[in-house]
Amino acid sequence: MSRIAYVNGQYIPHNQASVHIEDRGYQFADGVYEVIPIVAGKMIDEAGHLDRLWRSMDELRIEAPMKRHPMQLVMREVLRQNGIETGLIYMQVTRGVAPRDHPFPQDADSSLVMTAKRTSMAKSMKKAEEGVAVVTVPDIRWKRCDIKSVSLLPNILAKQEAVEKGAQEAFQVDEEGQVTEGSSTNAWIVQQDGTLVTRPTNNDILAGITRAALLELLEEKGFKVSLRSFSVEELKSAREVFFTSSSSYVQPVIKVDDTIIGNGQPGSISTDLRNVFKEYMEN
Ligand code: PMP
Repeated sequence: MSRIAYVNGQYIPHNQASVHIEDRGYQFADGVYEVIPIVAGKMIDEAGHLDRLWRSMDELRIEAPMKRHPMQLVMREVLRQNGIETGLIYMQVTRGVAPRDHPFPQDADSSLVMTAKRTSMAKSMKKAEEGVAVVTVPDIRWKRCDIKSVSLLPNILAKQEAVEKGAQEAFQVDEEGQVTEGSSTNAWIVQQDGTLVTRPTNNDILAGITRAALLELLEEKGFKVSLRSFSVEELKSAREVFFTSSSSYVQPVIKVDDTIIGNGQPGSISTDLRNVFKEYMEN
């Protein structure tokens, strides 16, 4: 089945889909996005992702390209045309096409693009079974990391540093030496006493949808959770480390910089939570 993209009202073969050179997403990274996982043909936490998309648009005063319900119909059509059972749908809204000038254009319509791709649950499970390495990098981002903006240069530089050091993810660290979040994931530790720790949401991090869903599951299951920031020292001496996102679900970490976490194998709590989350997605 060939890939189909949605671009401003049209379904187009993926390799022919394009936007105008003066789209403000291209010129200024003046746009927002969402990535929603699809498991067993079903979107996971669709409502949470759409709420966050609307919040991002509102915060940047980008007008919604269409109302929520029609957008959901387009999302379903993109998934149908691409035959996605397990994968991701990517949606991007920009402030539209206008002659390049910094202030908001007076009469541009916002642009909406959607793409979808297949992913492999087996590959993802293998990575979870093996565990991955992360590196720590300074957080050099702006002060509105709560907005899911397509301006991702610091995140790209962080991820590239991870890749060049043979790691899967980079945890960003603020000026106080506290971990904020991964380049495209939320960071978690398990303390020696078994308490799970993740940073509370404010403008310093993105309110991850996976993070929120996992917090609910943890509450249901009676886990002890502390919403607080944690330092790089705590990270490296944690019993377990993992990260969450729509594309990695719950991913155990076995190494941070040069420090081996625990016995160098994915921890039992992270592994359990991975399975709990998989079950949540599949049901
Ligand atoms: N933080 C950042 C910076 C991200 O880009 C992402 C991925 N969207 C996340 C956290 C995780 O969010 P989610 O669980 O909603 O994918």
